[in-house]
Amino acid sequence: MTFSATVLTLYPEMFPGPLGISLAGRALGEGKWALDTVQIRDFAIDKHRTVDDTPAGGGAGMVLRVDVLAAAVDHAVAAHPGCPVIAMTPRGRPLTQARVRELADGPGVIVLCGRFEGFDERIFEGRTIEEVSVGDIVLSGGEPAALMLLDACIRLLPGVMGAASSGTEESFENGLLEYPHYTRPQEWEGRTIPEVLRSGDHAKIAAWRKQQAEDHTRLRRPDLWERHKGARVQSASGARQETKDQGQ
Ligand code: SAH
Repeated sequence: MTFSATVLTLYPEMFPGPLGISLAGRALGEGKWALDTVQIRDFAIDKHRTVDDTPAGGGAGMVLRVDVLAAAVDHAVAAHPGCPVIAMTPRGRPLTQARVRELADGPGVIVLCGRFEGFDERIFEGRTIEEVSVGDIVLSGGEPAALMLLDACIRLLPGVMGAASSGTEESFENGLLEYPHYTRPQEWEGRTIPEVLRSGDHAKIAAWRKQQAEDHTRLRRPDLWERHKGARVQSASGARQETKDQGQ
């Protein structure tokens, strides 16, 4: 099944952009995903094709009009029923690999890109829209955020990355950062590849990698580490509960 990506934007010419190259570009050519861009301005209702207006209450910048946004969203939803609508916004829930995987397993996604000061709040009351952020940073528009979201989904689609990797060992997939990688040359500026990786002992290598992943996560991302530990405790007590239930 083709993963359907619909992007609502004032700058459709930004797509596929980098997604037309390399892995994602090849997959697009092969029909593993499909791209539909929707020009939000086409849904303007006045003769000047206005999409924005000054913020109620005053202040800098312009705000995207709710009536125009709603018409564009309704059009996309009618064309792609079953696809979730995601608005890119720094106020949204931070994007995670878990959510990316869910999206990649589904029929596709409709992505709403903001510009200026962002969206009239009522769009989130009047339509079912998930608000997603790609980090605690402020971009000038939602388009680079949409490219990130789509890139992360596309590489997980069946057949896109090839048999070499399903991506399941990568950073975040098990709640940890990935272990470090090395390749030839064996020695570079006096630095060598860790001995264990040349031992050929797969169990020892797996144990080393697990330890490295845990150490890196603990030191670099204490937030992820706390969550990982929490999940481990929970799944251990869940397993105990199951054993008990079976015994009854
Ligand atoms: N005034 C807003 C920022 C608007 S930036 C605020 O302070 O929250 C303009 C548009 O860029 C936003 O509507 C959104 O679509 C996009 N954008 C900016 N930063 C983003 C981020 N971290 N994640 C996702 N989208 C972002």
